[in-house]
Amino acid sequence: EIASMMDVGVNDIIGACMSLGLFVSINQRLDAETLSIIAEEYGFFVEFVSATEESEAVLDSEDNEEDLVERSPIVTVMGHVDHGKTSLLDYIREANVIGGEAGGITQHIGAYSVGLKSGKKVAFLDTPGHEAFTAMRARGAQVTDVVIIVIAADDSVMPQTKEAINHAQAAGVPIVFAFNKIDKPGANADKVREELSTMNILVEDWGGKYQAQEVSAKTGQGIEDLLEKVALEAEMLDLKANPNKNGVGTVIESELDKGRGYVSTILVQAGTMKIGDILLAGCYSGRVKAMFNERGQKVEEAGPSTPVSILGLNGAPNAGDKFHVMDDEKEARSIAERRLQLQREQGVRTQKHITLDEIGRRLAIGDFKELNVILKGDVDGSIEALSDSLQKLSTEQIQVNIIHKSVGQISESDVMLAAASEAIIIGFQVRPSVGARKTAEKEQIDIRLYSIIYDAIEEVKDAMEGMLAPKV
Ligand code: GDP
Repeated sequence: EIASMMDVGVNDIIGACMSLGLFVSINQRLDAETLSIIAEEYGFFVEFVSATEESEAVLDSEDNEEDLVERSPIVTVMGHVDHGKTSLLDYIREANVIGGEAGGITQHIGAYSVGLKSGKKVAFLDTPGHEAFTAMRARGAQVTDVVIIVIAADDSVMPQTKEAINHAQAAGVPIVFAFNKIDKPGANADKVREELSTMNILVEDWGGKYQAQEVSAKTGQGIEDLLEKVALEAEMLDLKANPNKNGVGTVIESELDKGRGYVSTILVQAGTMKIGDILLAGCYSGRVKAMFNERGQKVEEAGPSTPVSILGLNGAPNAGDKFHVMDDEKEARSIAERRLQLQREQGVRTQKHITLDEIGRRLAIGDFKELNVILKGDVDGSIEALSDSLQKLSTEQIQVNIIHKSVGQISESDVMLAAASEAIIIGFQVRPSVGARKTAEKEQIDIRLYSIIYDAIEEVKDAMEGMLAPKV
């Protein structure tokens, strides 16, 4: 196809691929980068219109500085199991802190927004945990502005606490710590501060850059202060959006309600969505028939950082799908249908992630600068040794980043982090769990298992030098 489009011989194209280290057959599909390179060699420029992204470029068009206004932060709560994530979200939802609006939030719609005394607002995603956070990111949805990491002050920094910190850091999202259960007699927040400091995380009252607050999700102590700290963090991020354009944002959750049809909770991230708007969300479209806030009240419109549940879509889009308000109903419907068809043809995912084998080719193309690695091993000592050696492989062209390392088998959460951060996973003397293996297959994540440190280092080194023979 590309040969005839450019009017050159098929063999020339195959030859050009070979010079890139790609052995292709005549009817093989080439990926986007390869197509660009090949086309460029013949003096053509390729413009890609993907079925999922088309029209998004137009709708996400850059805003003028003067059209931007402050928007409130969107927050995800993470932390170790039983440290109080759900209790914290429940407390904030039920107390409805502070903002003085009548009635607590009774509806569970997957996200809610609360007002603070200072007049600011904070929106919460109501599904705690780094798994949900990273699954969204793996779908390309970066929704969260600030992460609250809950650590029980009567316990310690636990494995999932570390995981949560790594996931937030890999996403580049600032963290505010909540030292919870401060009402309990055995609580000792200083012990937690100390443990964090050994991980190079210094909280503010110890002279560091991380904000932290002692709280009790049971009595409510400190929670208002926690939220003000989140608002402060958000202020530093200078979050802004243009409310005066078509609404765009992300789907948080959706379901089929027997009485009402498809109900989706969406988070408007920019622009404003109104009743009657034509919506394109993932593989579905429709007109917004009704909108409700987290109090179950009807609303007419929703601006940036506002979660609403909506009626009117002709299906249930996935969490993490983008939505757009469109001007043309026919166009919205036809894009949705095309996406649905493409999804059926290609299975759930088609995005290709980085593999060791591919590094050489990506290097040749010149668009590869960082190799992100997730490292899992059986004992701390070997993980540290391997981590040091791998980082030392960094050259001027490629930087090796160990974005997460820990003891234990390779979990689904590791795979999702790899998908979200374009990373490969290296396991030393450990194997993936069944769930992790399945997810890795679906997401096409490269998992490499080694039992000799030297082998791991050599193979990564070879890959970085473009020497790794492609797998046949
Ligand atoms: P999650 O697994 O992180 O969502 O933790 P939960 O919110 O389910 O809390 C685990 C347990 O700790 C529950 O029994 C809560 O009632 C209790 N808990 C949570 N926060 C507090 C707190 O601030 N003080 C006390 N005393 N108990 C708490």
